[in-house]
Amino acid sequence: MTMNRIPGQNIYVGSILSLNDKAALEKENITHILSVLRLQPQEETKFAGFQHHSIEVDDIYNENLLEHFPSAIKFIQSGLDAGGGVLVHCTMGKSRSATICIAYLLHQQPIALTPQSALSVIRESRPRCEPNDGFMKQLSIYHQMGCPDDVISHPLYNRWIYHREVKESVACGRAPEMSSVLFADEQTPKSQDNQDRITEIKCRKCRRNLATTPFIIPHVPQNNARGLGDCAHIFLHPLTWMRSSLFPDSDENGAPSGDAPLSGRLTCPNTSCGFNIGKFAWQGMQCSCGDWIVPAIGLAKARIDISHRVNVGHGLGRLPPAALGIRLPPSMRASPADDSANGRGNL
Ligand SMILES: [Zn+2]
Ligand SMILES: [Zn+2]
Repeated sequence: MTMNRIPGQNIYVGSILSLNDKAALEKENITHILSVLRLQPQEETKFAGFQHHSIEVDDIYNENLLEHFPSAIKFIQSGLDAGGGVLVHCTMGKSRSATICIAYLLHQQPIALTPQSALSVIRESRPRCEPNDGFMKQLSIYHQMGCPDDVISHPLYNRWIYHREVKESVACGRAPEMSSVLFADEQTPKSQDNQDRITEIKCRKCRRNLATTPFIIPHVPQNNARGLGDCAHIFLHPLTWMRSSLFPDSDENGAPSGDAPLSGRLTCPNTSCGFNIGKFAWQGMQCSCGDWIVPAIGLAKARIDISHRVNVGHGLGRLPPAALGIRLPPSMRASPADDSANGRGNL
């Protein structure tokens, strides 16, 4: 079959060959065609008589398909609302088209479905459907966001883009551009109201405030079989005071970062202190517990003071932590198996 109907939907997933089967397109009353591939100019004629929307992407792990979910869903919905059938196709009808259809199903039923269960629905009629790992991860982020109509202004999207750019830079042996680093204290909102307990970190030498709860990356120690020790570091999201350590040759406006170091020391932002408080590695570091943090900005516990207090403002906040972009969902954290070939530094 060049195309298959998704159970319970007037949506079809197909390969590029489905465009040639005019009889089938007519029989199924296809009125809208969504192409999820780079079309050749001579193929344009195949869409005469149809409403056509095109998303020019390749079937590769790194491709950003996530940013196209809202426009694709809107197009599919317009076809269904007009009473027609919608064909979503790519080259094989396996990865790109399936990803878009899963996004549509998730948008329809964000509570009842997960990316995996939506894929199972599609596979009932088209078993070959199998989004690449990068697309499955994007579906998972989209689902965690709550399947919004506006993806690109969501904090989780911005964090994903930031991690992606760091990975791309590191793969080329470079630190990321300062402009692509997501400095957590410049993001909005900065509310701590949804936290039960607030952790504060100060420089042990000068007592300067370094970070509070929303900027600390939640980190569960890995008690792995290798018998590694407790975590010697606390890992933070990038903060503006780290600029002088991360980008030592840049001015405040982020002008030419030149060759920013891939890894290095983190010093106390109090210029009269300048205590060595930790280290950073864009390529990631292995915590002393065995877990990999990528990218890693770690404060050495021996060089900081950590205090905890109950948050009296708790309960005032309405947004869940994920909506604030505070917590990194497990699926967004890089795992050692993710791309261990990058030669990341060890602690
Ligand atoms: Zn200090
Ligand atoms: Zn650890």
